[in-house]
Amino acid sequence: MLKFASHHRRELRIDALFSLPTYVLSIGNEAVTLKHVRGLFCKECGKEYPIAPQHVCEFCFGPLEVGYDYEAIASSISRESIASGPRSMWRYADLLPTPAEGVIDIGAGGTTMRPAPRLAAELGLKKLWIKTDAGNPTHSFKDRVVSVALSVARSFGYEVAACASTGNLANAVAAHAAASGMRSVVFIPSNLETGKVAGTVVFGGDVVPVDGSYDDVNRLCAELSGSRPWAFVNVNVRPYYAEGSKTLAFEVAEKLGWRTPDAMVVPIASGSLFTKMAKGMRELHSVGLTPEPHVQIHGAQAEGCSPVATAFAEGVNEVRPVKPNTIAKSLAIGNPADGYYALGEARSSGGTIESVPEESVAEGMRLLARTEGIFTETAGGVTIAALEQAVRSRAISPDQETVALITGIGLKTIEALGATKTTRTIRPRVEEVDAALGVRGEAV
Ligand SMILES: *Cc1c(COP(=O)(O)O)cnc(C)c1O
Ligand SMILES: [Zn+2]
Repeated sequence: MLKFASHHRRELRIDALFSLPTYVLSIGNEAVTLKHVRGLFCKECGKEYPIAPQHVCEFCFGPLEVGYDYEAIASSISRESIASGPRSMWRYADLLPTPAEGVIDIGAGGTTMRPAPRLAAELGLKKLWIKTDAGNPTHSFKDRVVSVALSVARSFGYEVAACASTGNLANAVAAHAAASGMRSVVFIPSNLETGKVAGTVVFGGDVVPVDGSYDDVNRLCAELSGSRPWAFVNVNVRPYYAEGSKTLAFEVAEKLGWRTPDAMVVPIASGSLFTKMAKGMRELHSVGLTPEPHVQIHGAQAEGCSPVATAFAEGVNEVRPVKPNTIAKSLAIGNPADGYYALGEARSSGGTIESVPEESVAEGMRLLARTEGIFTETAGGVTIAALEQAVRSRAISPDQETVALITGIGLKTIEALGATKTTRTIRPRVEEVDAALGVRGEAV
């Protein structure tokens, strides 16, 4: 059943080979319909596929993408219909693969976006917004993608949710599975931060640490997906999963009064979130909700795992896999599935892909906390450091209205900040306070 097309331009992906037969394992439920979805199509050769748990083209091994009937959406969607929807990301259900039998909505989305005047002043920008997904149910943007992935998986008849994760995805899969009565089996690299492991185990699913990098874990899952009837959120149901990221773009535009900003800074792991920002902004325009977007999208990677930034800097289209060694573990994907497409979107939008020094990650976390009162994880530190770097190099000019996406909470990665600096411990006596403040910064 494997067909090798002679024209495929992309390198043959080994994970594609392992997971090709997965749609055979779909558990019945033949006639799954998703609102306004025409089907899947291959991003490389355009071949169309019916709605199914499949993520790779059988002919060219290109990734599959959800295709919509935009005319139908345009005639049913409006700013008013969205405003009267739920406060969660599901207010944009018309632009998501939404099963008829309902969705798993535990409150992902609807997160805060506010002006960041103090950080803007420090960086030399006129208008900066911080959109922070720390307020999601499991405190990262991964709740958005998982909410879509498991909603669709359930309509296919899957009872087990699985994933390979750099941490945040594990939290989100375990939580959404728990809340919807699914079983979860989550695979993680064994060196993850304690906060991310504890925040997964608590939901009661199986958590399997693997002695290897995320890329090893991902390969294992691709292999497993060929023989287990499980919904791997970022393997066999990845096309649906990835769509959830668009809701970040939708929320940004709605918050700005249905327009798009001049520039955005977006962290890159697999590159999916990055490409979906561009897709989301285009869709809003194509269904008549916003003027044509002219948003430059800048990517953020940390030096210890920056394969997409390297390809950008070298001006090539191929992303060479690397072995990650970065403090930003949630971004530590050495062989990013959507790196090639992220490069394309960065270039065509006039954006850049920044690689920031490892030392600047914790500095970025501290800078955001100190200026705006927002405590982000390492991925957010990468984003702030990339923003700073892009402004310094004039890739973002001072008068461009900019939105930085802060995708996760700092409490999960406290290790990155090193020793906690407080004053020395005092006895509960007024006269000891001034003395303690006089010797600030002593490690406790
Ligand atoms: C997963 C993740 C990202 C980026 O994800 P992509 O794979 O590029 O879509 C960004 N920030 C955080 C905190 C994440 O967990
Ligand atoms: Zn194809």
